[in-house]
Amino acid sequence: MQFLKNSLIILLALFVITSGCARKPSLIMGDYFIIVKNGTPQCSIVIPENCIPSVKYASEELQKFIKEMSGAEIPIITDASPVQGKEIILGKSKRLENIDYKIDWENLGEEGYNLLVTKDNIIIAGGEPRGTLYGVYGVLDDHLGCRWFTPTVSRIPKMETIALPALNEIFIPPLEYREPFTMDGFIDGDWCARNRANGNTCRLEEKHGSKIIYYGFVHTFDALVPPEKYFDTHPEYFSMVDGKRIKERTQLCCTNEEVIQLVIEEVKKWMREHPEAKVFSVSQNDWYNFCQCPKCSALATAEDSQMGPLLYLVNSVARAVRDEFPDKVIDTLAYQWSRKPPKTMRPEPNVIIRLCSIECCFAHPFESCVSKQNRDFVKDVEGWSQICNRLWVWDYVTSFSHYLVPFPNLEVRAPNIRFFVKHNVTGIFEQDTYTTLHGEFNELSAYLNAKLLWDPAYDDKLAITEFVDAFYEDAGPYIMEYLKLIHKPTQKREIHMNIWVGPNGKHITPDMLKQAEIIFDKAENAVADNPEVLERVKVARLSIDYTIMERARKRDTDMKMKNEDPTMVSRAKRFFEIAERNNVTQYRESNGSIADYKKIIEEWLGTTL
Ligand SMILES: [Zn+2]
Ligand SMILES: [Zn+2]
Repeated sequence: MQFLKNSLIILLALFVITSGCARKPSLIMGDYFIIVKNGTPQCSIVIPENCIPSVKYASEELQKFIKEMSGAEIPIITDASPVQGKEIILGKSKRLENIDYKIDWENLGEEGYNLLVTKDNIIIAGGEPRGTLYGVYGVLDDHLGCRWFTPTVSRIPKMETIALPALNEIFIPPLEYREPFTMDGFIDGDWCARNRANGNTCRLEEKHGSKIIYYGFVHTFDALVPPEKYFDTHPEYFSMVDGKRIKERTQLCCTNEEVIQLVIEEVKKWMREHPEAKVFSVSQNDWYNFCQCPKCSALATAEDSQMGPLLYLVNSVARAVRDEFPDKVIDTLAYQWSRKPPKTMRPEPNVIIRLCSIECCFAHPFESCVSKQNRDFVKDVEGWSQICNRLWVWDYVTSFSHYLVPFPNLEVRAPNIRFFVKHNVTGIFEQDTYTTLHGEFNELSAYLNAKLLWDPAYDDKLAITEFVDAFYEDAGPYIMEYLKLIHKPTQKREIHMNIWVGPNGKHITPDMLKQAEIIFDKAENAVADNPEVLERVKVARLSIDYTIMERARKRDTDMKMKNEDPTMVSRAKRFFEIAERNNVTQYRESNGSIADYKKIIEEWLGTTL
């Protein structure tokens, strides 16, 4: 062990240790740790004798992918056994006691890691429960070029010799909560872990180090104080609208002290019954009708925001639960009517404000879009960032009325996430197509979001080109051409795009559709002898078929289209065949089954498809 100690001391004297969230590895040229040489293992992986499941899983993942890359199987041992040559040391290992280097565990938190490479050892020391596993993916992804694009398409480079240069790297994710809410991603826990997403919907298990678990994810007022149970005896618990308490589509009267007590008791009950959950939502129902009673109105006026009464309730709950449940937090929405930050009130430290961007334009970055919606939103983000110590965001990346319509916003993902992080946002939920597989470019969308949420500085263009190259193979150049084509119209400052935009949106032009058809023909041709990839191209093409059909149908209410455009029937046929074959079950967020849509199109075309 002495040789190890000496070499580390020499190396460490030269290192500049990084801190915070930036990844700035210090490199010493010339020194390498050799993991595999000519297909033969050169080291062991060491895990703590009694390690948490995610560290054990980290060792298995490292072993698995090194083997996939090189054919060599690195043995896994525990730190109860003596040192046998060079080692990759994972987690809170006893081995670290003999090394003259201090891991700052506290700074690493739950998910950060310190990766230290010398010529004799690799140390991957991560906070618990997920840091060490993330550190292993850091080695595989950031340093060895592995990528997990979709649950089934990866890039695992082949190499007979695998080595890492000496380096010392600390990475602590700037976002504590990272949720790419895309069905094509969250259905697969391994994909989520490998891309280091940790959100509530991600199908992560204990071996992945679990995730951020919510109880009551959103819009919980009705669940906390059900109008069916209380309205008839206590109408004063609910919203007064135009002088009358309302039972239907109501909110809570947030300043009523009995309501506050009921909410406190219910939240405490949730916390006792759901020890696995960390975040508990006390949030408005998904409609307007906030309470206009004299007390609520006075507070809203004084705070110049409807957040006033809402935060009065939420803060009261937060204060009432913090002693019994110090590690749990209360989440509320700053959404639509409650979005504006209050004038003088401040969220308690155990409150998360989840600010929603629902009104915005997503064709342009928040900061550079000239629309009033985006300028107002930017103002609210700035306001909240100054008064809230735990600001999370609920953001949107698709059209919820038309999952398949071209929604050119890939170029705004990075600037928007960076804008949030710059304003102290520490959690982001990216609401995407979540009720079906294969909305418009959803695999790419999920991947891009996951990469940027983990590391907002990640090169978004690299993520897109690597993805397209791997997923569409020989059709990749055409898909890139198509993506460029659909992003072109919104380069104009005045063409905005909200989250309900449809096939007749100004961001789509007839000429664009014509060119898209030519590009997709070429793309299909390029992979004609590769059925799996051809199918992916056809799925991407659903967007254009959907848009052409919908534009024609909306124009053509007297059902003459069938005669005017003989391609329409075959287009519709192919659309539904491909959608059904690939489990595209919904074409919009609510009440939008593909089966129902098929009936609509059949009726329009006057034929059975
Ligand atoms: Zn009220
Ligand atoms: Zn805009």
